[in-house]
Amino acid sequence: MTKIRVAVNGYRTIGKRVATAIAAQDDMELVGVTKTRPTFEALTALDKGYDLYVPEESVKAFNDAGVRIAGTLQDMYKKVDIVVDCTPGNVGEFYRDQYKAAGVKAIFQGGEDHALAGTSFNSTANYSESWGAQFSRVVSCNTTGLLRTLNPIDRVNKIQNAFVTIVRRAADPGDSKNGPINGLEPSVKLPTHHGPDVQSIMPWLNISTMAVKASTTLMHLHTIVAQLERETTTEEILAILEKAPRVRLVSSKDGIKTTAQIMELARDLGRDRSDMYEIVVWRDGIKVVGNTLYMYQAVHQESDVIPENIDCIRSMCKAEQDVAASVAKTNAALGIPQKN
Ligand code: NAD
Repeated sequence: MTKIRVAVNGYRTIGKRVATAIAAQDDMELVGVTKTRPTFEALTALDKGYDLYVPEESVKAFNDAGVRIAGTLQDMYKKVDIVVDCTPGNVGEFYRDQYKAAGVKAIFQGGEDHALAGTSFNSTANYSESWGAQFSRVVSCNTTGLLRTLNPIDRVNKIQNAFVTIVRRAADPGDSKNGPINGLEPSVKLPTHHGPDVQSIMPWLNISTMAVKASTTLMHLHTIVAQLERETTTEEILAILEKAPRVRLVSSKDGIKTTAQIMELARDLGRDRSDMYEIVVWRDGIKVVGNTLYMYQAVHQESDVIPENIDCIRSMCKAEQDVAASVAKTNAALGIPQKN
């Protein structure tokens, strides 16, 4: 089997997890990762056996620091089929022209606008729309979370309106710059961009979102109120989510009362970097009254988009036509329970 040759541009929160996930797939080869500076993360990548590629202007800094590089980004483009761009939001535009000129495919992340790639991706909702594409974008962590649960529900019982409040983590655990470290900060630009981002994949969905930044680094939490086309029951919604890929149902009665216990669960599961790839829904936090659904879900912002990046590679590189087969393969490699 010819393996898909993949590189990761931007190696920190998302990029290092994507790199680990690529290295775990038997149909992909991780050609290398890029760093702009010879930080501890560059050294860790070398320790893991990954080749380092750097922009031309960074070569001297790496040579001066005695950190071994395999070449420049231009050298890297010659060896790959696809680059997963995990640079910070709004940097992708700079690279898109390079990818185009080099004739390589690229996946951008949720910090970029939909227009940059022209196609947005979520495994469950629209796997086939990125089939053979040169560019695609894996939507943000929050959007991925909303699509993982709302899309399967909408397929069974059309959502007329969804109102979502996103309680956002203020910073990632490895980030000592962002905040607030004390206080709650509402997003005053309303409605927030998360609704339109979901619509980049489900354009028919009426969804309105608000967001509040909270002094936590662990996870985001969504409160969802959705009006459905027809009256339903809590049990019917539970049955849909039991079957939904990469959705984990937990119960506060079992002691999972906060995002802290969810992260403890991820540690107990022995996940790489203690990641929780699934969207976590409180079973006893789901309530249906008539045709109105109320629920809570938690999103591990550092990792929920990782399996989506892997499936997106397969779709864009025409490696697996069947979404269920790609999801199952990715899940098996990452230790995510498979649902049938
Ligand atoms: P990050 O800041 O943790 O990592 C970005 C990496 O890119 C860093 O190593 C940085 O040094 C490097 N970089 C910066 N400029 C570069 C350049 N010009 N060329 C090459 N590398 C460069 O960012 P992140 O949190 O991993 O976010 C990456 C993307 O993923 C963004 O679009 C973001 O919106 C999206 N995303 C982030 C999260 C999250 O919670 N962190 C979740 C989902 C999606």
